[in-house]
Amino acid sequence: MNRIRLLVFNPALPVLDYKVPAHLSVEPGSLVLAPLGPRQVLGIVWEADRLPGDEVPEAKLRPILEVLPVAPLAAPLRRLIEWCADYYVAPMNAVARMALGSMAALRGGGTTTEYRLSGHEPKRLTPQRAAAMDALHGEQATIRELAAIAGVSEAVLRGMANTGILEPVTVDLDRPYPRARADFAVPDLSAEQQQVADRFIAAVDAEEFRPFLLDGVTGSGKTECYFEAVAEAIRRKCQVLVLLPEIALTENFLRRFEARFGTPPVLWHSSLKASERRRAWRAIASGEAQVVVGARSALFLPYARLGLLVVDEAHEVSFKQDDGVRYNARDVAVIRARFEKVPVILASATPALESLEMAEAGVYERVVLPDRFGGAQLPEIAVLDLRKEPPERGRWLAPRLVAEMRERLERGEQSLLFLNRRGYAPLTLCRHCGYRFQCPNCSAWLVEHRLSRRLSCHHCGHEVPVPDECPQCHTGDCLVACGPGVERIADEVKELFPEARSALVTSDTLNSPEKISEFVAAAEQGLIDVIIGTQLVTKGYHFPELTLVGVVDADLGLEGGDLRAGERTYQQIAQVAGRAGRGEKPGEVLIQTRHPEAAVIAALAAGDRDAFYAAEAEGRREAGAPPFGRWAAIIVSSEDEAEAREASRAIGGARPNLPDVLVLGPAPAPLALLRGRYRYRLLINARRSAQLQDVIRQWLASLSFPQGVRVSVDIDPYSFV
Ligand code: ADP
Ligand code: ZN
Repeated sequence: MNRIRLLVFNPALPVLDYKVPAHLSVEPGSLVLAPLGPRQVLGIVWEADRLPGDEVPEAKLRPILEVLPVAPLAAPLRRLIEWCADYYVAPMNAVARMALGSMAALRGGGTTTEYRLSGHEPKRLTPQRAAAMDALHGEQATIRELAAIAGVSEAVLRGMANTGILEPVTVDLDRPYPRARADFAVPDLSAEQQQVADRFIAAVDAEEFRPFLLDGVTGSGKTECYFEAVAEAIRRKCQVLVLLPEIALTENFLRRFEARFGTPPVLWHSSLKASERRRAWRAIASGEAQVVVGARSALFLPYARLGLLVVDEAHEVSFKQDDGVRYNARDVAVIRARFEKVPVILASATPALESLEMAEAGVYERVVLPDRFGGAQLPEIAVLDLRKEPPERGRWLAPRLVAEMRERLERGEQSLLFLNRRGYAPLTLCRHCGYRFQCPNCSAWLVEHRLSRRLSCHHCGHEVPVPDECPQCHTGDCLVACGPGVERIADEVKELFPEARSALVTSDTLNSPEKISEFVAAAEQGLIDVIIGTQLVTKGYHFPELTLVGVVDADLGLEGGDLRAGERTYQQIAQVAGRAGRGEKPGEVLIQTRHPEAAVIAALAAGDRDAFYAAEAEGRREAGAPPFGRWAAIIVSSEDEAEAREASRAIGGARPNLPDVLVLGPAPAPLALLRGRYRYRLLINARRSAQLQDVIRQWLASLSFPQGVRVSVDIDPYSFV
């Protein structure tokens, strides 16, 4: 039989039947091109009995055109795609798309042309060309990518290429990566660490599905331990995927990897250049890439011989994807490991309650590293009650914190101030008429960024310059900043300690790998006295002279009423606290709060992690929240407010009437307007026994909506806005 069924990437026609002409041969998973009307479509050959669709009569079958020169998607990956589509109530082709690189990658190897500065400097340059030359130092990329880097049009760069300022470089797309060496620099593990590493190594050798929860305090050497499992996989010529939150994919981590294995890993993240992406994808699919370190999107790539999966900082919220296919990479990693029959290690100092419960239930093997490496002590954590010890008027740092910082300065040690809020102030208003600056596309205030002199929306990116007068009452010089962002704290530090060398660490200031490396080097060399940062500083850094961490506002994360607010606050503060006292000198942490009685703050202060998790588990059990019950959300949006409301009401009206499923809403979402779309939400709370996905599928299948309405389902939601 040469009839085949294809999964194609057309939202309206996800499944199509074809025949295979005699000169071609395919198997399930093969990537092929097929005719569709006058066009060609890309398709994946799929087992017909697993992909329901209308059967095309024999006489109407058209032949496929071409089989692409890449390995077929293997069965475990195909099963993973099916599983995700089913579990996350997502279209299968949307999930499958995440496995594919660019069309260019599927087309096979070859060469591409990139450009770089030739060194030739003409005597006269237009200002545009001069600016482009400044921006392009050390860069080599395609014209289009260089245009984005330099902020000029492609035409300008083509002109520069024609006059010899830029020179073409032919790049081999499939040039091999340097080999990682399992035994390049084997560390001396402590006895405790060795035991942990041995368990991982045995699991890699066993080549079977074994999920581990590596639960170890910050600085205990979790990375060192799982690196030994990575080494074992390399010895066995298997591939490894290490998933990291995007913000932890730092130069720092890569250097550490290189020090252990003699070469950096193969990287995968959202800002790879097209040629890097293509090269990495092809090396992954061919099995040539040994160790891939990537953000969540690396999870669906077609590894030829996967031998181990690691999810580091597994508690991180950023593993949850909230657009397109709404999946949680931490959970999908475990499922992938199960289909691939390989071990998976979830590593964290502050595991998600869900992960702890899985360990408790015996589904995950819990592996514990209770102590910091080398005898370093965990920091002392103290609470600073802002109601009793308020900062001076117009300031945000309480006197005790300031005094501690002064001591550190005198001793030549470092302090770190943590506030998870970018910009100068989260709200700007007019002193005269009360006007508040709001985003026109979102229900959100505009955040003042003093460094760039702009008001910006952190949801959609809308920006305006800070005006001289109030747009409503036209009074001049009347705008007041309300509340602090990190830039404001940095100003306060400058006023308090004019002589101190401070560094502001946010995605606005450290926006390139070079700037991050510069910061890390300066901090390591003791050239920085005070670090002021957002969550960007909570991850991975190891600064031995850092002995004081000040949490500027511990209550920030507790606002908003999100289901995991307590857990997230606990994790963030425990992680940032974990930056203190990693060297020989002990660390101290001061938490500024107005709610010292809150369970999470009390547990942090008492150093009683178990108490926190117990209280958290109790609260969730009562609320029927995960892991004891299940949540799902249906989000309805449209550019037309009435249309969105109507659609959400129609969904609400068709709600299932089941004993184990409770539907809340529809109600306007907390972010009722986002990127110009009006949003309504329904929240579904179900017992664990309920067939939640089937219920939702059937429920929505009976409804139809106007073109402009988007309905998306979020299983196990993290965001409640
Ligand atoms: P975690 O990931 O648990 O926070 P790391 O793996 O980052 O811990 O280790 C913390 C620090 O201790 C790192 O600088 C690491 O290089 C060092 N370290 C941990 N274990 C060892 C070891 N066995 N030998 C040498 N250095 C180690
Ligand atoms: Zn906005």
